[in-house]
Amino acid sequence: MLSYLRPNMYVESLDSISPMQLQELGIKGLIIDLDNTVTPWNAMEVGPKVTRWFKGLKQYGIKCCVASNNSEHRVAGVANALGIPFVYKAKKPRRRAFHQALKVIGTGINDTAVVGDQLFTDVLGGNRLGMYTILVLPISKREWIGTRFMRCLERLVFWAMDLPEGAKVRR
Ligand SMILES: [Mg+2]
Repeated sequence: MLSYLRPNMYVESLDSISPMQLQELGIKGLIIDLDNTVTPWNAMEVGPKVTRWFKGLKQYGIKCCVASNNSEHRVAGVANALGIPFVYKAKKPRRRAFHQALKVIGTGINDTAVVGDQLFTDVLGGNRLGMYTILVLPISKREWIGTRFMRCLERLVFWAMDLPEGAKVRR
């Protein structure tokens, strides 16, 4: 069970994922979570660093799709502003939305990574399909009450896990 919750990479934020490194790993597509990964929870504005990072991905030919458990209105607002496709009400960690996102960007399980701030939705979902998974630190501490509950379970998992050296899991 723990192995399904273990990300392949730990980073502080989206913009610390280097497109060049992704390319070296053979990753051609990213399925990216929205809340507390791209923007603070339920916020519409995307920071300048993140905007630049998305542009950088384009230059490297890495395709992106946002996959979020949030509503259509919420997800479309941010994804359209960034000019990237999206899947809403994704019900992660269920597999369907990940398959949908792969179809949208036209990449496969072996050359696509899942990026997100939560173990029980993003990382678990990606690992269930055998995709490469990248955990980012949540942008802010403000979150939905259900997520706050899951953070308690995450803490237990991190405690039980052998974390790689330098892995940051908490702000
Ligand atoms: Mg999130």
